[in-house]
Amino acid sequence: METTTIEALLQEQRVFPPSEEFVRQANVSDPSIYEEASRDYEAFWAKCAEILDWYERWHTVLEWNPPYAKWFIGGKLNACYNCVDRHVKTWRRNKAALIWEGEPGEERVLTYGDLHREVQKFANVLKSLGVRKGDRVCIYMPMVPEVVIAMLACARIGAPHSVVFGGFSAESLTDRINDAQAKLLITADGGWRRGNIVPLKRNADDALRNAPSIEKVIVFQRIGGDYMVPMQEGRDLWWHELMANAPLTCEPEPMDSEDLLYLLYTSGSTGKPKGIMHTTGGYLVGVAITTKWVFDIKDEDIYWCTADVGWVTGHSYIVYGPLAIGATALMYEGAPDYPDRDRFWAIVEKYRVNILYTAPTAIRAFMKWGEQYPQRHDLSSLRLLGTVGEPINPEAWMWYHEHIGGGRCPIVDTWWQTETGMILITPLPGITATKPGSATKPFPGVFPDILDEQGNPTPPGRGGYLVLTRPWPAMTRGLYGDPERFQQIYWSKYPGIYFTGDGAKRDEDGYFWLLGRVDDVINVAGHRLSTMEIESALVDHPAVAEAAVIGKHHEIKGQAVAAFVIIKEGYRADEQLREELKQHVAAKIGAIARPDDVIFTADLPKTRSGKIMRRLLRDIAEGRALGDTTTLADPAVVQALKEKYEGQEE
Ligand code: ATP
Ligand code: MG
Repeated sequence: METTTIEALLQEQRVFPPSEEFVRQANVSDPSIYEEASRDYEAFWAKCAEILDWYERWHTVLEWNPPYAKWFIGGKLNACYNCVDRHVKTWRRNKAALIWEGEPGEERVLTYGDLHREVQKFANVLKSLGVRKGDRVCIYMPMVPEVVIAMLACARIGAPHSVVFGGFSAESLTDRINDAQAKLLITADGGWRRGNIVPLKRNADDALRNAPSIEKVIVFQRIGGDYMVPMQEGRDLWWHELMANAPLTCEPEPMDSEDLLYLLYTSGSTGKPKGIMHTTGGYLVGVAITTKWVFDIKDEDIYWCTADVGWVTGHSYIVYGPLAIGATALMYEGAPDYPDRDRFWAIVEKYRVNILYTAPTAIRAFMKWGEQYPQRHDLSSLRLLGTVGEPINPEAWMWYHEHIGGGRCPIVDTWWQTETGMILITPLPGITATKPGSATKPFPGVFPDILDEQGNPTPPGRGGYLVLTRPWPAMTRGLYGDPERFQQIYWSKYPGIYFTGDGAKRDEDGYFWLLGRVDDVINVAGHRLSTMEIESALVDHPAVAEAAVIGKHHEIKGQAVAAFVIIKEGYRADEQLREELKQHVAAKIGAIARPDDVIFTADLPKTRSGKIMRRLLRDIAEGRALGDTTTLADPAVVQALKEKYEGQEE
């Protein structure tokens, strides 16, 4: 028996309208913007494009030949010019562009003027090493301002960058360099993580044994002192030595709207990394306007996105979006629990952060550690909170709202993907009443739908496949060098419609609720259940900080629910709690979702970007050998869990 929709079972009644005070000062507060955008979305996006400075205006807003869109055709601009030069011509010359805190505690501030100087010099360095427009440059660096300088310098001369997260191994770096055929690598001697040195240069050396396209390596000295790294004669060059003699000015290269700005390989929750391509005009319009409207950033704000620049969140919402609108962005190099579990809150207090954008995985860790950590600090500067990366469980949302937001800050739960480039489903904080666990409404000019297997829109309350029926400016222009795979993954399920790979439902008010990845959906006796909803029912219990549920093979039901549960500090993992949790799920969403197994664990297998990898939990529960574990943050977690699980089974 195969049903075609995901049964959506969890109910949520709480609603949080924006305060009058927030609405009064919001960057957008007039709901008519939604109608205006749906009436003529091309005209809407053309109006949004005025947020940038163009050398030449486009002659055609959109050309749509699914799966390929071209936006702002004929337009000429430069992303670096928009993020730096144009601000330097105004009073923002001496405004902080980046405020940086190193993990050991160093502080640096770069004004737009500083950024302008450094980026021009570094662009000249790249040119002097033979990098030309169109050449790919790989960046493998820690979270230091130089990573932003490197990205912007690439954009300035029209060389697409491919940033590889500094937590990736040598092998992952090799694959990404080879796929992009990058000519130059920018790295550092090392980076700091929980007081230890991440050996970036050593990894890079290993990676380069099998990556012959790289001609030169620029090494930024982050650690220095006694920490020595070998430098290969003729290939490796120090950042500071090159910069010492670099000329001060470098004109930005006028780029076509559709010229490649960067490549970014996705985190790989689902398999072989995909080289997502983003182009200049549409991407920059999309990230600039969403930054301004979703985060409600004002010139006097300090905005902190805690992502690493190695992920799309860092690209769009640390670098390109905030800098395009002349904002002040904070960057932190290290871990949230170093030297103690209050590090984020110490940073918020110290810099008087106004807007904080983080991930559910972090929020659930904070919940587990307890509210005593945020309570140690004055968080009254915060006025808006954001989340991205996974569905947020309603109880985690409530915790964030109360313990971090002091009950006064709107929360923007933003749904998007590396492929979408920009936020697509989100509240607008001066307009949208939020509901815990819902990403709420499409951004104006964006057209998602929820379809069943046959391609019919699902009625309210029924889960289905989240798709986008019309193009949007920042959408990916494809997978680098692999058009067939692009077609197959995203465009083959429904012709001409973008398939996201996520399940979702809509409620009576038209709000979107993400239900988890379609690949993770559980099928119990023909009922297709959402991982997200069962996990949220578990997190709703006061003892639970985080949960991951999977479908495990079952003779009669097809699949049975197995739940891996992390409990909060101060609770006991015993038989009584196990029973209570099974009951709790049954009571919250129905007997069909009651877990057969509840496995207590200290940790869950996660990708390096902090997302739960349920397919490995399925391997464990079904006693299989573990599938590909190369994108895991910590392979030891899944090994330990496997041993524990096998021990319990006996
Ligand atoms: P890969 O595609 O390589 O497997 P990934 O999907 O984890 O990796 P990203 O592009 O970083 O890589 O993540 C996008 C996905 O993250 C979305 O498809 C969705 O599953 C999840 N996601 C992001 N934001 C939200 C959100 N606010 N609510 C629910 N899910 C979200
Ligand atoms: Mg994905």
